[in-house]
Amino acid sequence: MRRLGPYLKPFIPRMSLGFLVKVIGTVVELAIPWILSYIIDDLIPLGEINPVIVWGVLMILCSLCAWFGNIIANRMASAVARDFTRKLRHDLFEKISYLSERSVDNITIPSLISRVTSDTYVMHQTVGMMQRLGVRAPILLVGGIIVTLTLDPVLTLIMVATLPFVAIITFVVSRKGARLFKIVQSGSDSLLRVVRENAVGVRVIKALSKSDYERERFKKVNDDLTERERTAEKTMAIINPVMSLLLNLGIVAVIVAGAYRVQGGQTEVGKIIAFMNLFTIVLNALLAINRMFTMLSRASASSARIFEVLETPIELYETEPHFSFIPENAPHIAFKNVTFKYDKGSFAVKNLNFELKRGETLGIIGATGAGKSTIIRALMRYYDVADGAIEIDGVDIRDYATPDLRAKFGVVFQNDALFKDTIRENIRLGRELSDDDLTEAAKQAQALEFINAQGGFDGEVAIKGANLSGGQKQRLLVARALAGEPEILILDDSSSALDYKTDSKLREQIRLNHADATKIIIAQRISSIMHAEKIIVMENGEVIGMGTHDELMASCELYREIGRSQIGGGIELGEATA
Ligand code: ADP
Repeated sequence: MRRLGPYLKPFIPRMSLGFLVKVIGTVVELAIPWILSYIIDDLIPLGEINPVIVWGVLMILCSLCAWFGNIIANRMASAVARDFTRKLRHDLFEKISYLSERSVDNITIPSLISRVTSDTYVMHQTVGMMQRLGVRAPILLVGGIIVTLTLDPVLTLIMVATLPFVAIITFVVSRKGARLFKIVQSGSDSLLRVVRENAVGVRVIKALSKSDYERERFKKVNDDLTERERTAEKTMAIINPVMSLLLNLGIVAVIVAGAYRVQGGQTEVGKIIAFMNLFTIVLNALLAINRMFTMLSRASASSARIFEVLETPIELYETEPHFSFIPENAPHIAFKNVTFKYDKGSFAVKNLNFELKRGETLGIIGATGAGKSTIIRALMRYYDVADGAIEIDGVDIRDYATPDLRAKFGVVFQNDALFKDTIRENIRLGRELSDDDLTEAAKQAQALEFINAQGGFDGEVAIKGANLSGGQKQRLLVARALAGEPEILILDDSSSALDYKTDSKLREQIRLNHADATKIIIAQRISSIMHAEKIIVMENGEVIGMGTHDELMASCELYREIGRSQIGGGIELGEATA
């Protein structure tokens, strides 16, 4: 919670003004029972109506003033809470977009989503509530006690005697609450994960008639979250009744003692009535403080989760380059003894060595899970390698400024994202590209025809490209990658949904128009990569064959097998790629 300081600092002037208004409103509110006691004990016995009316009107004015003050201060508090949360959410979102893949793997995407949404919402509520009640409740509590002291110190002491017990209970329970609310928030991560998986996999779930199974899975995490909420709330709920019990016992004691004191002439009836009034104010203040503690327990869990993200170092993001010159005659891309491991699981890519000259094409083939995409993730420095080095133009990729490094690539990942926007924006993706550039890229990607059928570049793409076929999506993504005229073009399984003819046309266009770009093509089909200058065959994270198509057909058993199964031993290769 301490770390919130810098976030709250810019709002101090606005909060102070709000506090001032609140303080005035609250103090005036405290004056009301005091005036009441004065009217009953001092003015009524005089038997004159005018002073009673004057002080009565003053009471009304005080209520109005307190009422207005409260409204204004609460509105200001809401505005501060809103702006504070906007800043927090903004920074969180920004940080997430720079997080390394390793950090994302560790925190997990559903948890990140829930931190941006649900945890920031908790902070929003807390900052609002702290301003609304954080000033008012302590003033009412302390002020209430002070006013009661002026009315009757003995009775006040009876009331105050209960407070230490209340404080101890609140403190102990809230500490426990903070721990429990952290568990609640992690339950909300699980809920989000299941909802997300369900939404993403809706087709397959329906196809396999797994709706019941999914419902059961959702019920489980939902019940689990409810149970965690219940435990946390039940713990926090102990405070309220205990507090009421203690304070009401205090009231009973005050009434009994008060009755004796009135009878003994040590105090007056008006004072007892004002006392009861103030007692209610003090009680409500304590209940409000209790609510604040509940909220603070929640906020401390949420704030820890938010700051865990905000304070995660972005170790893979270099803002400055760390090299002074680019060596001459270096290969465009070089993997030197690269070994790579993910944090989770045991998968590893070992001893990867290859070089690509500028303009060359590398094909990568292998079963799913063999580690093909992993090579790309390492090359683009989404993850750092464990051992060895990856170089571009003879410079270690760790020495490039990250934006410079990423600008070199045009890439289509497997299942890449299309956004709910126009076709134009989906290809352009915020870059400075003219419509001519986009048209050219779309043409090369064999996408122009269907784009025109979809209403041209202004045509809409639905969420995740739902209104496009698999092949159309792939071509749109390829157009996006080509449009930036990248230095290195990476196509990760991005033509699997294209028919052979379109796939071959696409490759020809790339060869003709992007001769200088170094290309890395990951494919399941041999025909997509067979013309590459270099082909890597991967199995379980290891390179089991490297060379040209002919070399591999001669030397690599797995490659030969794939070749045979796909294109009949190479006899019809010409046809397949025509
Ligand atoms: P391919 O592209 O060949 O289908 P990948 O390179 O995507 O395969 O994945 C290779 C293996 O790496 C997979 O079997 C998977 O178990 C593992 N893997 C991929 N991504 C991660 C990750 N973020 N964390 C842990 N393991 C991963």
